[in-house]
Amino acid sequence: MTTAVTPKPATPAAPTSPVGRGGRDPVAGPAKLVAWVGFVAAAVTVGLWIRHGGITGATGPGGPATALGQITALLGTYAVLVQLLLMSRIVWLERAIGFDRLVGWHRWTGFATLWLLLGHVVFTTVGYAQGAHVSLWAQTRDFVSHYPDVLIAWVGFVMFIAVGVTSVRIARRKLQRQTWYFVHLYAYLAIALTFAHQLAVGTDFSSDRAARVWWIFLYVAAFGAILWWRVVEPCRLNLRHDLRVHSVRREAPDVVSIQVRGRDLDLIDAQPGQFFLWRFITPTGWFQAHPFSLSAAPRKDRLRITVKVLGDHSARLQRVRPGTRVLAEGPYGTFTAARRTRRRALLIAGGIGITPLRAMLDTFGPDDDVVLLYRVATADDAVFGNELAKFAGTPNMRIHVIAGNEIGDDNTDLLGVPTLKRGVPDIATRDCFVCGPPAFLDALRRRLAILRVPRRQIHYERFEL
Ligand SMILES: Cc1cc2nc3c(=O)[nH]c(=O)nc-3n(C[C@H](O)[C@H](O)[C@H](O)COP(=O)(O)OP(=O)(O)OC[C@H]3O[C@@H](n4cnc5c(N)ncnc54)[C@H](O)[C@@H]3O)c2cc1C
Repeated sequence: MTTAVTPKPATPAAPTSPVGRGGRDPVAGPAKLVAWVGFVAAAVTVGLWIRHGGITGATGPGGPATALGQITALLGTYAVLVQLLLMSRIVWLERAIGFDRLVGWHRWTGFATLWLLLGHVVFTTVGYAQGAHVSLWAQTRDFVSHYPDVLIAWVGFVMFIAVGVTSVRIARRKLQRQTWYFVHLYAYLAIALTFAHQLAVGTDFSSDRAARVWWIFLYVAAFGAILWWRVVEPCRLNLRHDLRVHSVRREAPDVVSIQVRGRDLDLIDAQPGQFFLWRFITPTGWFQAHPFSLSAAPRKDRLRITVKVLGDHSARLQRVRPGTRVLAEGPYGTFTAARRTRRRALLIAGGIGITPLRAMLDTFGPDDDVVLLYRVATADDAVFGNELAKFAGTPNMRIHVIAGNEIGDDNTDLLGVPTLKRGVPDIATRDCFVCGPPAFLDALRRRLAILRVPRRQIHYERFEL
């Protein structure tokens, strides 16, 4: 283990004047509001079901099961549309709530969708089979051969299952990201395939105009958002700014900084700490968009990212040529200094997680008190050496590069609880910005909680979506 620079004790905490909005996390309010809108729309959907009888109106053999089949179908489809909206990359939604939180919600509504649609298939088949006094198998055969669009809906359902299974964490770890992504695209086809049977045989729609209008409105909202924010807006951005690789500079054996030049980049209004989805137009890279954070504050004519080799694509980017056309989508993320609730900040980087924190350093002023802890495996892996040295020369910033291969537990790690406590005694009075690989991030968040840093003061960017 080598420690390039050991954290020095920071000065004892002085009373701090809150920055921003009186110590509140600016993301919490909008997140609650959006969650409420989601619940109200879900309640309207349940209201439709109740209007048509709900569970109490379901009488006779198979009635209750059929009614449960209807509500699970309505809520399952609603959850799918919410998932689409969450991933439509609506910039204001993303800025208000944060990409990571949207991804988390998308994931959980995904699992809810699967269970609800499975419930729909089971309850409806049981209900109809009880009503007709036939076996489940006979009822299934009857559905697919005599009911309009049900066979095609079954195909869609199987696709949903495939998307769900490949999204379970264990399966996802085993799959290449690109494979997972392409399987995920089948969700759109699945939605299209299941749409027709809802209007044709869905009893909540076939006789109720208001219900049909509500349902079509939800579909138009979800697909309209996808079309606008994932197709039209990115096209506009790239036509307007004409991005190309300007230069590529080696920072470490497996890390390069790529300067991207473009027109009027100040109009994009990107903040240090945010990221874009970058598509480099090369024969092998044009079909992949990967997230990379800005590694310096954006300029009117330049954006900079810094890329470490983690797999095939990031390895190819080490050799990208100046002049290569670049398509960017964004900016995304709420991991910016605007999240600060105080003037004192602690930035903690794990490996290449330094990139957004390096960019953020550009935003602090002389009134701020900043400590950066930068954890690397070996001193040679540290990037931005000269730039960090410049910041370290200012009186209000302390920068420590901590090198060491061994990863310890909460007590023994080089960034374990005792070291953090000793090195930054006023840690609980600081906003803590943490960025790095998932395991690093989880460990640091746990340790900050042990050190009683309030949750609203802990901000993080996970380099994994
Ligand atoms: C918000 C965010 C900001 C990031 N910023 C930086 C940065 O500044 N510098 C940097 O070097 N790396 C950054 N990364 C990580 C970077 O996106 C991945 O290293 C890169 O996409 C790996 O692609 P690959 O084909 O080389 O490797 P793979 O072998 O395909 O993947 C390696 C790892 O990267 C993840 N990954 C791959 N493709 C994507 C994708 N399209 N979206 C999300 N995760 C993906 C995989 O889940 C896997 O864990 C960031 C990631 C996120 C989510």
